[in-house]
Amino acid sequence: MMIRNIWAIGRNYADHAKEMGATISERPMIFLKAGSSASVNSTEIILPYWTQEVHHEVELALKLSPHLHIIEGAVALDLTERNLQSEAKKQGTPWTLAKSFHNACAVSAFFMIRKLEEIQDLRLRLWVNDELRQEGRTSQMIHSPAKMLSYVKEHFPVCPGDLLLTGTPSGVGPLRAGDRVKAEIEGQISHTWTIQVEAPPATENT
Ligand code: MG
Repeated sequence: MMIRNIWAIGRNYADHAKEMGATISERPMIFLKAGSSASVNSTEIILPYWTQEVHHEVELALKLSPHLHIIEGAVALDLTERNLQSEAKKQGTPWTLAKSFHNACAVSAFFMIRKLEEIQDLRLRLWVNDELRQEGRTSQMIHSPAKMLSYVKEHFPVCPGDLLLTGTPSGVGPLRAGDRVKAEIEGQISHTWTIQVEAPPATENT
């Protein structure tokens, strides 16, 4: 099924908010990634040629049922062009270019979630070329999945099959062509991607 919307939360782990020099607000900080920026269960991530500093952000992704309950989970990468995001933050402009490019949301296969208690304390990790870069536990979230879902449903036109991205722990960093990225939600799912960068368009000769 085509994913319509990806509702993402920023600054949901205190240690990551700190590394970004961001303050934590009481209200969840929600932004959108285009549903069409998702690539589900692919082995390669092809980044646009114009990106320069794409950072990995490992996150627990949650899929909504026809009745808008959380029914499935996955491990996902909220890929972010950090230079463009920093520029947008400075200028007070939207983050779309930094967050919604082609393949900006890499998602593993999904696992079933029967009760929300099953996801309340899962270990999340990410390795780049076998080096551990990010580690956290879902119990460290500032806004729990239940709280995030109720906030998003209250304010936005949420659809069946939409994804929630629940935020990233500290340790975000750049990805380069050829990198092998492994992300895991312990005991549930693990996925490995290879990073590629698309070739720039050929310049036209006249
Ligand atoms: Mg994120």
